[in-house]
Amino acid sequence: MIELSNIEKRFGDAIILRDISIRIPEGSVTALVGPSGGGKSTLLRCINLLEIPTTGSIRIGKEKLDFVPGRKTGWPSIQKIRRQTGMVFQNFQLFPHQTAIENVMEGLVTVLKWPKERAHARAMELLTKVGMAHKADAWPSTLSGGQQQRVAIARALAPSPRVLLCDEPTSALDPELSAEVVDVLAKLASEGTTMVIATHDLRLASKIAHNVVFLEAGNVVETGTAKAIFTAPERERTKRFISTIN
Ligand code: ATP
Ligand code: MG
Repeated sequence: MIELSNIEKRFGDAIILRDISIRIPEGSVTALVGPSGGGKSTLLRCINLLEIPTTGSIRIGKEKLDFVPGRKTGWPSIQKIRRQTGMVFQNFQLFPHQTAIENVMEGLVTVLKWPKERAHARAMELLTKVGMAHKADAWPSTLSGGQQQRVAIARALAPSPRVLLCDEPTSALDPELSAEVVDVLAKLASEGTTMVIATHDLRLASKIAHNVVFLEAGNVVETGTAKAIFTAPERERTKRFISTIN
């Protein structure tokens, strides 16, 4: 279980997230949806502590961290939480000077100190899972956007994180390449990978999410199962937003 409790995030005087409490059961996919600027990326970045919440607490598995204004969060605490997460970005962010397989091996070798052979075997297993084994030795610049994103997903999964965080994983891609990535995410979902996906793509959300969190202006407007949110949202605001899908 991943649990965010009463998370608030301020940048200076601006309150970007207000009192966010969400539970993410193991094996489930949660979509963060809502209008631009609502705080989806900030919330994802708070889960892996790329941003430190101002107040509130985060629990991932056995690790729990409380945030208190004015009290600095130490690096060991940040690392304990961050190591349980893998992050996928909109623009892939592969290391350009490394091949696909070297990208997937990188964290295993440099951070986790795995022997190269073991890391290579794990990376190959993951590249196979995302349909990229045949491009293991390719440079990122020679891959399509969809292929790069699939390598980025393999890289994020390499250390077996408890949760995969995806920020707009398909929005830099045309529909065909986006479909490749959606298929990979759907497969991971069906295998029980815990994921939180911030997305503008309501079709992606309706296809693979179990739960949906609708965020606007830093507030959770409505949460529910994907079925409930997409077929019978309770709030007028959610209804209007969801109606753009049809
Ligand atoms: P989009 O759908 O466009 O990706 P989003 O829902 O992901 O939007 P965020 O990127 O989380 O929204 O931004 C939420 C708000 O926080 C915005 O008003 C943004 O300007 C502000 N914000 C984000 N990062 C910072 C920062 N480092 N400093 C100050 N304000 C920030
Ligand atoms: Mg965003």
